Amino acid sequence: MKEEEKETMRNIFKGLKERIEPLTKSPKIQALQKRVIDIRKDAIDNNEELIAISQESFKENDIDCFIAHDDEEARGILLDLINEEIIASNLNEDEIYIAKSKSNTLREIDASQFLEKNGMKIIETDLGDRILQLKKVDNAPVHPTGPASHLNVHDITKIVNESMNLDLPEVPREIMEAVRANVLSLLDKSVIGISGSNSIAAEDGAFLTVHNEGNISLVQNKKLHIVVAGIDKLVPSLEDSVSIAKLETAFAIGKPLPSYINIVAGPSKTADIEKKLLKNMYGAEKVAVILLDNGRSEAIKECLWCIGCGNCVVNCPVYNVMGNEFGYHSYLGGRGVAMSKYLKDNETSVDSGLYMCTLCGMCTENCPVLTPTYEIIEDLRNSTQKDGLSKNQHKKIRDNIKDKGSPY
Ligand code: SF4
Repeated sequence: MKEEEKETMRNIFKGLKERIEPLTKSPKIQALQKRVIDIRKDAIDNNEELIAISQESFKENDIDCFIAHDDEEARGILLDLINEEIIASNLNEDEIYIAKSKSNTLREIDASQFLEKNGMKIIETDLGDRILQLKKVDNAPVHPTGPASHLNVHDITKIVNESMNLDLPEVPREIMEAVRANVLSLLDKSVIGISGSNSIAAEDGAFLTVHNEGNISLVQNKKLHIVVAGIDKLVPSLEDSVSIAKLETAFAIGKPLPSYINIVAGPSKTADIEKKLLKNMYGAEKVAVILLDNGRSEAIKECLWCIGCGNCVVNCPVYNVMGNEFGYHSYLGGRGVAMSKYLKDNETSVDSGLYMCTLCGMCTENCPVLTPTYEIIEDLRNSTQKDGLSKNQHKKIRDNIKDKGSPY
């Protein structure tokens, strides 16, 4: 990230903190926080059972459910499902448009790059993600819910004008309208939508998504809707999912509710003509969910409590200096570093900034589910030392202490 981008990000984070703090200190949100901590802990403790329950519930709701053990398997299932739809809808293979909403799990499996390599065109529908997509280079997100929080209106106008061959002034509304018109025209060509999920209600066989733009509704209403979500997103009931959505929103944007909470519990259907079941009235004719493990079942449980609000990175002193260099892929900051060990390996966690962390604990203090990230980081340092993956400077200090009884 460029220094100016980090400066913009810090300013935006400062404004966010001012909005988030008062709400999260309110008795109502603190009571909700206590409930959600219990929900997340129990759900992760009983993850295997919830996977089995959800498979049954999805089946009952006519949702196809797949388990992917790793990212490669998830990509394979995704491609198979899309190819089946291409054949079923008799689509021109040179003109496959995939409507996509913001999802860390889709980023985790590199879904966009993979589908593009297979000749498909990805339409990012979230405005921040679309701006990053148009930027083309150095376009990694900086916040889980505000991916373009490091770009100011000047940068964004330049990106949009250059990529769409326009001459818009630096006026946010005009930029938004131009991108919206462009995305909507492309969405007309698409019959396939892919999304993530903020939370999955195992007993109800339903998944829940949170958004402000209304874009996820457009993605979910395509003829085929595929959801890719980590197994850690499972909770027992829909009531649990809604509680998580409310808490996540409070800690992500400082509002008690987002504009939309969508719950999908099956394909679109009607029985209004002689009670005959007809699918695909307005929404998806087919819904499929891919539950992704990719190291989660081996991860320490505390690492999976996360509800994805991003408040840890907003409050992290290291992230505010280093930007998204501190973290792994779509998982930013210290918690991302911790997850990288399970998604990849110890070496990746070192490369993602394992030794950048100051162990100050600001992440835990500002985390709605009190994820003990700095403690996990300390344990990981221990384990990487055992693997001989320490930094050269640290090795030198250690050897000096051993040999001379002093670090120098
Ligand atoms: S670790 Fe906590 S603060 Fe960070 S994204 Fe997850 S829930 Fe939010």
